[in-house]
Amino acid sequence: MDGQRYLLGEVLLSGNLPRIFDMPFLAAHLEGMGPVEGQVLSLACEPGPMLDRGQTRSPRPPLPHHTRCLLCDQEPENIRHLLLTCPFTRQAWHEGLSWLRLPAPTPEHDASIQDWWMRARDATPPSLCKALRSATLLVPWMIWKHRNACVFDHITPSLVELSDKIKDEMRCWARAGDKGFRLVLPPS
Ligand SMILES: [Zn+2]
Repeated sequence: MDGQRYLLGEVLLSGNLPRIFDMPFLAAHLEGMGPVEGQVLSLACEPGPMLDRGQTRSPRPPLPHHTRCLLCDQEPENIRHLLLTCPFTRQAWHEGLSWLRLPAPTPEHDASIQDWWMRARDATPPSLCKALRSATLLVPWMIWKHRNACVFDHITPSLVELSDKIKDEMRCWARAGDKGFRLVLPPS
């Protein structure tokens, strides 16, 4: 299996933004998560507008792009801000990680998600690392979907809604066989 192909057939922008997530350091973890249906999720945590890559590849008109982050309205929107430094999404990380009782730090000033991952892994007991790996895939995915819902469906950013969806998705992954989440998920 291609380690960068990954679940959930709901990726908006799939034509114009074929690379969303690039986490080669988690490729082995993906391989253990079963068959893959759906989109390529590869994401470069690079500075710069998130749609640059799509615009250069596609002859179609550019997709809507907001210069300021819709979730916090404080900083220019780029993928590093969205996933690592946005105060809104950092709170979502905190909610998700603390709900799982993982001792990993919330992303802060990390240069990339891989840098954060190494910091988080070092702070996490080996027995909990599978859950941390799964959270490292799931939380950015849910942030990305929430961001897209704000852009395309014009919903109002809601930390409560995002956190609830993160927890629901974690439960779904556990039911689907995710061993890391099964180990740490609080009883409902
Ligand atoms: Zn933000």
